[in-house]
Amino acid sequence: MSNIFDTVIVGSGSAGSILANRLSEDTSRNILLIEAGNDYSNLESIPENVYYGHGNLEMPASQELDPHNWAYKGESTKDGPFIRIPRGKVIGGSSSINAQILLRGVREDYDRWAEFGNEHWSFEKVLPYFKKFENDIDYSNEDYHGNSGYIKVKRVPEQEWDDVHRAFYNSCVDYGFPACPDHNKPDSTGVGPLGFNQIDGVRQSTSITYLADIRHRPNLNIKSNAYVKKIIFEGTKAIGLELESNNQKFNIYSDDIIISAGAIESPKLLLNSGVGDPEKFIKHGINPVIDLPGVGKNLRDHPMLYVAWEPTEGYTNPKTNYSRVAMGLRYTSNNSNFINDMIVYMNSSTRNNGNPEVPEGIKANLTLNLEESSGEVFLNDDNPDDYPKLSYNYLSTENDINRFIEGIKILEKIGEHNEFQKYVGEMLHPDISIRKDDKLLKKWLHGKMVTGHHSSGTCKMGNDPLAVVDQSGSVIGAQNLKVVDASIMPDCIRANTNATVMLIAERIIDLW
Ligand SMILES: Cc1cc2nc3c(=O)[nH]c(=O)nc-3n(C[C@H](O)[C@H](O)[C@H](O)COP(=O)(O)OP(=O)(O)OC[C@H]3O[C@@H](n4cnc5c(N)ncnc54)[C@H](O)[C@@H]3O)c2cc1C
Repeated sequence: MSNIFDTVIVGSGSAGSILANRLSEDTSRNILLIEAGNDYSNLESIPENVYYGHGNLEMPASQELDPHNWAYKGESTKDGPFIRIPRGKVIGGSSSINAQILLRGVREDYDRWAEFGNEHWSFEKVLPYFKKFENDIDYSNEDYHGNSGYIKVKRVPEQEWDDVHRAFYNSCVDYGFPACPDHNKPDSTGVGPLGFNQIDGVRQSTSITYLADIRHRPNLNIKSNAYVKKIIFEGTKAIGLELESNNQKFNIYSDDIIISAGAIESPKLLLNSGVGDPEKFIKHGINPVIDLPGVGKNLRDHPMLYVAWEPTEGYTNPKTNYSRVAMGLRYTSNNSNFINDMIVYMNSSTRNNGNPEVPEGIKANLTLNLEESSGEVFLNDDNPDDYPKLSYNYLSTENDINRFIEGIKILEKIGEHNEFQKYVGEMLHPDISIRKDDKLLKKWLHGKMVTGHHSSGTCKMGNDPLAVVDQSGSVIGAQNLKVVDASIMPDCIRANTNATVMLIAERIIDLW
């Protein structure tokens, strides 16, 4: 049977949409982009919550009802509660539902990737690709920024900072943290406005940017509402995909298959296709194709804790079109060898949108930006086609726990600053009865971790025994098969992941 498509990409998210754009620049190459969720083929048809980025990190209580959200559940800590794990199920993937903070990792993140056997991914090698995808409106003349890429980036101008963000900023500076006007300047640290890929309220998802522009190309085919269930192999050569659309099954064949289904679905798809540790799938009757023990391991994330204060009487939420989470503090924890291993997103909204994981009050989202703990993705025990089992394993080391305790103490001090005191009263989450006893606090923390939304690393690239792909994204031991998305990060970077996923897509193409 002859193949209609030269390349098939599974998943139209942050990575998949960029690959579809770049690969279809060659008009002789016929590309198929498959997406499990809906497509909206013109800007006018995009639902409001996908088009506009409201910018809050809290997902609404009803996320399970949102057709654009996979709405997974994951086990937070060992024996800890199950937490919500949102992921985009729509054209543009998670870039269509995310909070649009655009932050690059630190130089050392990419240099570590290079040390792990990926010499093409050092900071020096990746910087040109950060510049390639971005159009930084505030810093267009700086040589470390791009000014003509698809993704526009802006910060809230200083004169428009809301009261809480300004007070947090001033308190942090008085506390001794450096002012940081541009968090994406290499080697920066401290407090300052976060960059957003949101312009006039409109999210700069990869669908609204990279895809909207190229839909006229006759060699780009988009098949939405189609779920890929398995990779078809001939020996170790990938030759096609089994997919389901409207309850009908189809097989599609191609000599070039790219999986960009994200850090949860990509390992699931590999395991369901017999790629991974056979122990994980043989019990489901799936035949082993390639023994790669790393598939699904190394689940990295940024565990997050909502620290919340009671607002002072009369406090009203700022009326702004900007994100309520627009100010960030990056700092290095005491005795850490890793710069910026912590981040705080200051959140001036007292709302929790009815989400039981989020306390009410003015919040500082205290986040471990480089955890030591790591988790794992498994197939669902009862049915491998169903939602996978996600074990995040947060707080499995003393150092991870202690950095949260230190962070709470820093925030206590910042909260006592006289300018901040204009807006916040007592810290309520955790309250004093818990804060005064470190043992109690440790126990409390185990029940309060939520995701920072940065699942990654589950098909990591490198050349160690747990590596799943090489540094050009090719699945080790397979032919015609690549993985390109957040799952191939060897380790999670010390930043929100979207910028780095877009970087991965732009960079990797030049390695093919
Ligand atoms: C609520 C939320 C807030 C976030 N906030 C930020 C932020 O402010 N800043 C930031 O930098 N990052 C943020 N992130 C993280 C960031 O958006 C992701 O890391 C990034 O988008 C991941 O890109 P990806 O290409 O790996 O996967 P995705 O963008 O998730 O794309 C995967 C795509 O594959 C599709 N798919 C999956 N399985 C299949 C299958 N079997 N068949 C067909 N299609 C399939 C999915 O539907 C999806 O469209 C946030 C994420 C979430 C969920």
